[in-house]
Amino acid sequence: LSSRLFQPEDTIIKLPHTEIGGRTFTMMAGPCSVESADHIMAMAKVAKAGGATLLRGGAYKPRTSPYSFQGMGEEGLIALRKAADANQMDVITEVMDETHVDLIAKYTDVFQIGARNMQNFSLLKAVGKTNVPVALKRGLAATVDDLLNAAEYIAANGNQQIMLLERGIRTFDNKYTRNTFDLNAVPVLQKLTHFPVIVDPSHATGEWDLVTPMARAGVATGASGMMVEIHDDPEHAFSDGPQALKPATYLKMCEQVQAIHTLM
Ligand code: PEP
Ligand code: MN
Repeated sequence: LSSRLFQPEDTIIKLPHTEIGGRTFTMMAGPCSVESADHIMAMAKVAKAGGATLLRGGAYKPRTSPYSFQGMGEEGLIALRKAADANQMDVITEVMDETHVDLIAKYTDVFQIGARNMQNFSLLKAVGKTNVPVALKRGLAATVDDLLNAAEYIAANGNQQIMLLERGIRTFDNKYTRNTFDLNAVPVLQKLTHFPVIVDPSHATGEWDLVTPMARAGVATGASGMMVEIHDDPEHAFSDGPQALKPATYLKMCEQVQAIHTLM
């Protein structure tokens, strides 16, 4: 179902405020975590000012350490939904556990499946049984075929509204970057599948000053969109502060990304 041989035309995912896929370029931005109702409202305004049509923010966070902030839960989902609605944006947020699928579906327009859950097959089957579009992030050590097979689990269960996110993979050199941004994967995936491919230069680099150059490179691959983390006070962010763009940096990046996209 995922293959170009099965469906030659690009899949276009239609949301209330945006379309994802093909030659359209969709920006998705927001903080790593929803931190408070006021904070997500302020970040939504910034995201929108840069041209983002989707607001991101985790309410259930897949943290490497169990002692790190785990997310605001349903209270966070409510705040995220309100902030998006106030700015005519759609919501994308992570679902970590199959038992949360119904609850999160009440608040989100897109389910995000995190890199650490890319091969959580019971979760993939559960979101596959909904009609909510799914953004599937490439696993930390997943091959292109692993990613496509994970997408196939969702599609085979009935949900063909899927987008794939390249968010960096583990390689031998992660001293200066959190991950290695596999930009090859974008045109490779576009050749193999009709599902939209989105780039995430924030998790791919892990360092805010690398995000803009890799965002420029990401849009130049021909990706259908981008996900970026922003924060007005990265030093005090609840998660992923080092990679968050401050508002002014984000706005400048968006201008450059849009300019490159118009050349494509
Ligand atoms: C995130 O988007 O904040 C996140 C946890 O991403 P990933 O699953 O790619 O690490
Ligand atoms: Mn994050």
